[in-house]
Amino acid sequence: MSTVIEQIQQEISKLETRVAKSNVGRIVSIADAVAKVDGLSAAMYNEMIEFPGNVFGIALNLEEDYVGVVILGDCQNLKEGDEAKTTGRLLSVPVGKELLGRVVDALGRPVDGKGVINTKEVYPVEKIAPGILPRQSVNQPLQTGITGIDAMIPIGRGQRELIIGDRSTGKTSIAIDAIINQAKINRQGLLNGDASFRPVYSIYVAIGQKNANIARLIKVLEEANALEYTVVVSASASDNPANQYIAPYSGTAIGEYFMENGMDALVIYDDLSKHATAYRQISLVLKRPSGREAFPGDIFYLHSRLLERSARLDGNHGGGSLTALPIIETQAGDISAYIPTNVISITDGQIFLETDLFNQGVRPAISIGISVSRVGSAAQIKPLKQVAGKLKLEMAQYRELAAFAQFGSDLDARTKHQLERGSRFMEVFKQSNFNPKPVEIQIAILWTVQNGFFDSIEVLNIQKAVTNLEDFLSSAKQHVLQGILQEGSLSDSVINELKGAVEEWKLTFAS
Ligand code: ATP
Ligand code: MG
Repeated sequence: MSTVIEQIQQEISKLETRVAKSNVGRIVSIADAVAKVDGLSAAMYNEMIEFPGNVFGIALNLEEDYVGVVILGDCQNLKEGDEAKTTGRLLSVPVGKELLGRVVDALGRPVDGKGVINTKEVYPVEKIAPGILPRQSVNQPLQTGITGIDAMIPIGRGQRELIIGDRSTGKTSIAIDAIINQAKINRQGLLNGDASFRPVYSIYVAIGQKNANIARLIKVLEEANALEYTVVVSASASDNPANQYIAPYSGTAIGEYFMENGMDALVIYDDLSKHATAYRQISLVLKRPSGREAFPGDIFYLHSRLLERSARLDGNHGGGSLTALPIIETQAGDISAYIPTNVISITDGQIFLETDLFNQGVRPAISIGISVSRVGSAAQIKPLKQVAGKLKLEMAQYRELAAFAQFGSDLDARTKHQLERGSRFMEVFKQSNFNPKPVEIQIAILWTVQNGFFDSIEVLNIQKAVTNLEDFLSSAKQHVLQGILQEGSLSDSVINELKGAVEEWKLTFAS
């Protein structure tokens, strides 16, 4: 015989409380893909709101008597009086390796006409960044294949490095080069079957670009066999501002899947200037007060909460990483404008590209003096560090000297030598886009210049010499190149082999 109390307890334990609050409201007004909805008293910030016809929006403004919802995707059919429902879910996107090789929109839906993507998981688009404890310092390289960057402004896995410059200075090309280089390394590494090899998967987020541009980039990736390791998230200029606003967070969520499952990923936001503009547009329609340069007050938070999510996790958390290369477009080289200064302060360094250099044919047009990488050199592999250690300083000095030397003729021998060497290095750093170089080649070439083998070659012929030497080494001296990597440093024996190879090449090269 159970007591009354026991009976009551049993009854209580059987009781299932499931809070499934769904608020239903109506659209009061709708314009520019932003709907004012009343009756959604329980809506959460960033919650997905469902409209008829499978259209979704995100609750961005929670006012006392209405909610401001930005609508994602096509909202032509929505009108005043339509029903709006809370879903209890935060905005999320499908994630997983299944997305590799595909082009998706800001919500992770395929837009490449290659059929459905069978992903198994979804991740929230917005997430609190990893704290300090699960992180470890950046200590593995993420090589771009661009000699000037890998030698002087090295990037490490988990780092955030800004690519900044005016229109058409080669910003996108640098990011695409990094993707192509990682794909090359992936293919080689997976071919070698080394169990400790860690591939890097890339996510390219296109924000506010022309569709034709995005299509061209996809073609470049395809032709370089890099698309199979890449997810393209596309929110083009013709997409509405809400999609452009969400796209980088979606791309980050896709990257976080790799990071949190012990893998390495690289995410590119091209570009955050257009992202800020899209957000400003949304904010103006939502009637938020605007501040400096007419951007809303939380614009700093917009980018900091995005970039903080890049990290290198420690071994206890799987050891994965998410590296970010945000891109910012400046006006007339002004890096002190509002959005550039914000993003500069959030990242771990910047690669600054200059129109003047670009027009002079110095491509990539990296301004060495103001480009920095605050954490990446810890991740540079040792032989590269050995040849490139002081290079950045020397090159910055060279550029200053070169500007100065135009005016005077009586230079001392040391200055002359510095100028001769510097001008040759300048030539070595010129590199066409979509043509990343393996790190062992970079090391061999830098060593060759460093040790005077190019001194007798005319500056005009340096680029020819570089190509020639590269071909020679990769066809006839593979073992020397591999020796550099296997040894892990430029030991005496490695240097002897390299020296022998370069001397042999020098005999054949008629400048
Ligand atoms: P936008 O402001 O339009 O986004 P961007 O700064 O991203 O431009 P890119 O599109 O990368 O610049 O490059 C602009 C042009 O310069 C392209 O035609 C590209 O092919 C060329 N270019 C970029 N880098 C190099 C390079 N290293 N060598 C030769 N040409 C280059
Ligand atoms: Mg670009």
